[in-house]
Amino acid sequence: MNRNRAFYIGRFQPYHLGHHAVIQKIAKEVDEIVIGIGSAQKSHTLEDPFTAGERVMMVSRSLEELDITYYVIPIMDVHRHAIWVSHVRSLTPPFNVAYSNNPLVIDLFSEAGIKVKKSPLFQRDVYSGTEIRRRMLNDKKWQDLVPKAVVKVIKEIDGVQRLKKLSKIDSQG
Ligand code: ATP
Ligand code: MG
Repeated sequence: MNRNRAFYIGRFQPYHLGHHAVIQKIAKEVDEIVIGIGSAQKSHTLEDPFTAGERVMMVSRSLEELDITYYVIPIMDVHRHAIWVSHVRSLTPPFNVAYSNNPLVIDLFSEAGIKVKKSPLFQRDVYSGTEIRRRMLNDKKWQDLVPKAVVKVIKEIDGVQRLKKLSKIDSQG
């Protein structure tokens, strides 16, 4: 029998406990998960500080603790919504359901005939990439908003320092 495989995409700048809660829920419903790292070409900006490879590490290491087969695939932007689903499918293992709460992503997959399930939001006020980056810049506690594996990766790549340097460059114009 074919395996039930789900797709979930995010920029994961960084991967946080909101994303992780969604993945844990999906893991209960399917056999395998395909995770897309969106805007894979971006890094070293205040909104997208981490490279695709660094984000692959964050997601892969966080998912090691779950009992599910997963594939983590970087996906660059194509800047053409009409071909985005084909682009995604050309890079990923075949999947039969996509989970998202992004209205455009939901529409594009639905139009392409792929089943979409709405993923819930968990504590969106704090489990948010924007909020976590803001805390990193302001020396506020961010470590309890991400899986432990992500704390380790960010430490390993000196991620907070990178963000602070980017912020200085940004303010100098
Ligand atoms: P940013 O603030 O940088 O945009 P983000 O927290 O929105 O970061 P993304 O990588 O942009 O994270 O989001 C990927 C997907 O995860 C989106 O569909 C988003 O709605 C979803 N998501 C974000 N935060 C949560 C959360 N707290 N609970 C569940 N899903 C979330
Ligand atoms: Mg977002």
